Amino acid sequence: MRFDVLTLFPDLFAPFVEQGIMGRAVQQGKLDVCLTNIRDHARGAHRVTDDRPYGGGSGMVMKAGPIVRALGAVERISDRCRVVLLTPQGRLFDQDLAWELADLDQLILVCGRYEGVDERVLKGFVDQEVSIGDYVLSGGESAALVVMDAVGRLVPGVLGSEDSNREDSFEDGLLEHPHYTRPRVFEGREVPEVLLSGDHERIRVWRRAQALKRTLERRPDLLERARLTEEDRRILSELK
Ligand code: SAM
Repeated sequence: MRFDVLTLFPDLFAPFVEQGIMGRAVQQGKLDVCLTNIRDHARGAHRVTDDRPYGGGSGMVMKAGPIVRALGAVERISDRCRVVLLTPQGRLFDQDLAWELADLDQLILVCGRYEGVDERVLKGFVDQEVSIGDYVLSGGESAALVVMDAVGRLVPGVLGSEDSNREDSFEDGLLEHPHYTRPRVFEGREVPEVLLSGDHERIRVWRRAQALKRTLERRPDLLERARLTEEDRRILSELK
């Protein structure tokens, strides 16, 4: 899968793209990350990318021209491509949207700055507006990193084990069960006995019950949409 990021600050991306799971996936050719500096598509000696808002008011607005020309210069590798503008006013990003985007061949992410981008960019040049949460960032770059991380790890072959994202939180609508590793006792706190038992069925049931308990305690809203089995419902009624 290929990510294209349109930004005024391409240097912000290097550490993320070169290290960890993303770095390995890029090296292996499973993910491709192409950075476009919007300023390279601005005109005039000063390559201005922003201007004062019509109607007055504080702050600057990103000009439509440089963004639209930058979008036009991005090579489209497939019809399965989507242009996403990062904005606090967009659809809230979640695991379902991450899966939807992971099914594409190319995702083009446009990062705003200042007061945001000229509204006319949205009409005809952007397929979708996406927000990573109900708060306001200074720029779309950190939002683009969040989207690339969540989407990239769903691309087949990016994670070492094919199954390792299936048990993650939100995959079946629940928060994941707790994890423990060595040592067996840490500052007087023991690993739950069941995890040392070697009894795979007991471990499965314990983990499922823990996932249900956590979700009930921390995110009861998720339970309304989760795919629950009869066993889950029984565990939940015992927990309640
Ligand atoms: N004036 C805008 C508003 O109130 O909707 C906020 C602009 S914000 C300071 C600058 C840029 O940061 C936005 O254009 C967007 O690209 C990015 N941004 C800020 N918050 C975001 C969020 N929650 N999700 C995605 N992008 C965000």
